[in-house]
Amino acid sequence: MNPVNHPQSERLLAYATGAADVPLRLLVEAHLSFCPDCARQVGRLGAPGGAVLEAMPEEPVPVSLFDRIWEEASHHEPPRPVAGLPLPPSLLAELPPPERWCWHSALSRGHRMVRLLRDEPGRSELYLVHMEAGARFPRHAHRGVEEALVLAGGVWDRGRFLEQGDWRSAPAGSRHELTADPVEGCWTLVREEHGSVRFSGWRGMVQRAASLLPH
Ligand SMILES: [Zn+2]
Repeated sequence: MNPVNHPQSERLLAYATGAADVPLRLLVEAHLSFCPDCARQVGRLGAPGGAVLEAMPEEPVPVSLFDRIWEEASHHEPPRPVAGLPLPPSLLAELPPPERWCWHSALSRGHRMVRLLRDEPGRSELYLVHMEAGARFPRHAHRGVEEALVLAGGVWDRGRFLEQGDWRSAPAGSRHELTADPVEGCWTLVREEHGSVRFSGWRGMVQRAASLLPH
């Protein structure tokens, strides 16, 4: 089944023009691996003579990017898990080896996350988040934009149930909580701007206290 929730057009445009930072590029590519509609749209945006190049003839899209776009547009098979992780092989290839990942639990039972990479100079970060079946991620606020892609399973977010391939975004200043699918749990790829998650209530107090400790 194709995803129901898609990135905004300006995100696809940033990808097609090469303006996206690395976390955004990988997040969009992961979505494209599930979504033939967006892959076609990116292909149109980036095609020679397409809307993007007509608007910005002085900034041609790199040739290697065309290769990737057309490869994405012509392969619509859902990614298969690698080493037990539901990540597209093309994405895994750009990350440090999984055995070197440092998992953390974020003050919440049934939930773990790893920072996969940070864009220089630290403008945004890419995380892989796993929630066990029925796990709840407590209410929290975002200082910056959060964008995420469901890789496997499903999750409830603000009254919507998101499934594999679905994109969600939370604007700066927004608050929400998440609840994983009661049977399958959820794997999510998350891009955060400015390390932006801030917990509410007692977890927020613990988080602020922890930030004062020497690392
Ligand atoms: Zn899409």
